[in-house]
Parts: sequence; C-alpha cells; structure tokens
Amino acid sequence: MKEIPITISMSIIAQKLSKVYSDGSEVLALNAVDLVIRESEFTAIMGPSGSGKSTLLNLIGTLDRPTKGRILIDGIDIAEFSGDVLADFRRTHLGFIFQLFNLVPTLTSLENVMLPLIPYQRGLGFRLKQRAEELLEAVGLVGRMAHTPGELSGGEQQRVAVARALINNPSVILADEPTGNVDTKQGDEIMELLMKVRDSRNQTTIVVTHNPRVAAFADRVVFLKDGTIVDESDLRSELELENVSQMSRAGS
Ligand code: ADP
Ligand code: MG
Repeated sequence: MKEIPITISMSIIAQKLSKVYSDGSEVLALNAVDLVIRESEFTAIMGPSGSGKSTLLNLIGTLDRPTKGRILIDGIDIAEFSGDVLADFRRTHLGFIFQLFNLVPTLTSLENVMLPLIPYQRGLGFRLKQRAEELLEAVGLVGRMAHTPGELSGGEQQRVAVARALINNPSVILADEPTGNVDTKQGDEIMELLMKVRDSRNQTTIVVTHNPRVAAFADRVVFLKDGTIVDESDLRSELELENVSQMSRAGS
C-alpha cells in the first residue's frame, strides 16, 4: 500500500465553553468547560448519559456554536469563521465517526468512502477511487469493497466509516460512541484501529464514550458530569510512573 502523507495535526483549546439549549425549557448542557488537547493526543471524553459529551464534541467539530466561551483550533478562534468557511474547514481538516455508522445503505463500501469528496474530486491532488481503496485495505476490508452496509457486520460497517473519516486526510478525528453499536470484541478492534491510525498519521483524536473499557485505550481520559469536567487522569503519565516505580523496585 502506498503511504498517505503524514497528517499535520492540530491542537484544540476550549475556554470557558458553555452551551445552553433553549427549545422550550433551558438546559445548561456545558458549563464553562476549559480543556486543552495537544497535537496528536488521543483523548477519551467519558461521562454518564446527558453529561454533555456529544455537545462538547459537536462544538469542537464546528457542527454547533457555543452560547459562551470559545474554541481555538491551532490557535485560531473558530467563531471568526463564517458558515461557508466552517464547512470548508470541516471538509478539509476534520473526520467524523458516529455511533450508528451513518453509511448510505444503497452504496457500496467503496462508494461510501469516496462520497464526502465526490463533489470535489476534480480539484484533488490524488485519485479519489485509489485513495478509497487504499483506506479500505488499511482498515482490513479488501474483500468487502463492493458490499453494501447490509451485507457487513456492525464492526465492518464501522471500519468503513473509519475509512470514510480518513478520506480527506484529516488533522482531527472526532468519534461519538464509535463502539456503541458493536459487540465488545468488535469494539476493541475499532479502538485498536483508531490507535493504529493515530500512531501512523498523528492526527489529534477525540473519542466520546460512556464505556471505561473503550476509554482505557486513550492516552488521556477527561470526565464530564452535568456539563463540567470533574476529574482528569492522564493514563500515559500514570503508566510512566508505574514503569519508573517498577524499574526502581527491580533495581533495588
Ligand atoms: P451526552 O452526549 O453526554 O449523553 P448531550 O451532550 O447529548 O449528552 O446532552 C447534554 C444535555 O443537553 C442533556 O440534558 C440533553 O438532554 C440536552 N440536549 C442535548 N441536545 C439538545 C438539544 N438539541 N436540545 C435540547 N436539549 C439538548
Ligand atoms: Mg451523546
């Protein structure tokens, strides 16, 4: 498989980010959240249902606008972008993965992966079909390119969705409960795939989940409750600490 160029990763900073939904009654879904996500970091956002995880992800993904506060992506305040610029930004820099896969049921895997860029393929510096085939190969679906979603398992459908999310060579991957509709084994495979993709392409990755098993794959876990970040554990530094203490025990 030909190497796809290394992605330029992006940092994400949320400052005092709040979101109030006001259809009928008012819901404070996010309450002055501060969060710094470094380039290439693999972050899990955990929390119970209704804690504001999807709201936070949608704001970072520029799918919705905050009520208060701001989001800086690579230092740029995205509130400064108009709707058209945001749409371009999403198409060129972000990759989305959803719980229900969101594949088009009448299209093949290959067509689903190509779909986001089909309207733009003339201006691309690569052949879209070839890129889509390479990505399907990379997610382990060589023999499934001509299948439609109904002919695939849940895990296979989500791997098609991962390939689709990568078609624009994104700097940031945003996944909302990507393992929520597959079994544990397939869920582990999806998370391993997302880690492998991050390790080879370096894109910043954020996975929303309520499942601790899924969150354990991440470098870092951020906990949300009632729209507020309540606790944070940096698994990587904890592991490093553990290694250091093991080494010192071994050496003593
Ligand atoms: P999570 O993803 O952690 O389950 P959400 O971000 O979806 O939580 O929701 C946070 C809160 O905001 C919940 O109380 C939810 O009911 C409310 N909420 C989410 N989306 C909307 C909306 N479009 N309109 C009104 N309330 C919403
Ligand atoms: Mg949600």
